[in-house]
Amino acid sequence: MKRKADVSIAIENLLKEKAAHSPCTYKISAIAFDSKGDILGHVTNSHSKNWNVLEKEKIGRAGTAEHSERRLIARYGSLIKTIVICRVGRSGNLRPIDPCPVCQRAAAKYGIKIVSLMPGNGHQHEE
Ligand SMILES: [Zn+2]
Repeated sequence: MKRKADVSIAIENLLKEKAAHSPCTYKISAIAFDSKGDILGHVTNSHSKNWNVLEKEKIGRAGTAEHSERRLIARYGSLIKTIVICRVGRSGNLRPIDPCPVCQRAAAKYGIKIVSLMPGNGHQHEE
């Protein structure tokens, strides 16, 4: 566990705001940073159009959504140093989220660290 302070309030708010606009049942957004800490991109998950991937995952994820972290990796690849992911409920509050094994493997391939914003006492969970 690392202190949530690693992710600024501004970034957390951005992630929550964006996630709320996800078209999926599980509202998720992810933001990618390069090695300088600059933002490369920020996306929500989306309904998969081209991929027919069925994934079932333990924490708050199921179905055929294209994962936001995977979209970022597909777009920016090795330019990415860190990805922060966030899921919100209908009320807009943070909900538990973890990267799935497929995204974790993709991230590991590029040496990307995925950080999950987690609800609760100012803690986040790091993969
Ligand atoms: Zn995934």
